[in-house]
Amino acid sequence: MNETTAVYPGSFDPLTRGHEDIIRRGLRLVDRLVVAVAETATQGKDSLFSIPEREDLIRTVFREEPRVEVTSFSGLLVDFARERGARLILRGLRAVSDFEYEFQMVGMNRSLNDDVEMVFLMADAKNQAIASKLVKEIARLGGDIEGFVPPMVAEALLERFRDARENHRKARTPR
Ligand code: ADP
Repeated sequence: MNETTAVYPGSFDPLTRGHEDIIRRGLRLVDRLVVAVAETATQGKDSLFSIPEREDLIRTVFREEPRVEVTSFSGLLVDFARERGARLILRGLRAVSDFEYEFQMVGMNRSLNDDVEMVFLMADAKNQAIASKLVKEIARLGGDIEGFVPPMVAEALLERFRDARENHRKARTPR
């Protein structure tokens, strides 16, 4: 078998149209794409969805694409890529701000494992500015997020913040 596999790592909290765009572009380049939700980098306090929830959302959005596999990983990305037999690591580039960080990642990853090549793609102009962090903020404030995330993810966000609002309301209601 001579299949090309790429790993696309990220926090995906949650998957946006930006990520979706990069995945679809990536599929034009490789036979198999492993979307890998990073466990380590995502334990920050502002994570909204659990790792399995994020995985499920990605899986549901790409349920008709057998070439996409969704999983999570911890530890070193280059080790994970090697384990999966992936020669490429896919990343998306948004703005100059992403570049600085990615530039360092390439350097460090190369010294760890020079067999894996990092590949950078840009999303369509309309999806370039989308960031999970901002989408969560907009959803939290009750704004319209339909254009930024797949419909399934929009539903999950609505639900999550509906629950949060309910709990908030209950906590404030005197018994
Ligand atoms: P974030 O939480 O910042 O939205 P992730 O860590 O989940 O991003 O991102 C995973 C990868 O997807 C990163 O390489 C990131 O640069 C890329 N990415 C995220 N959003 C976009 C977008 N709108 N356009 C292009 N690449 C993106």
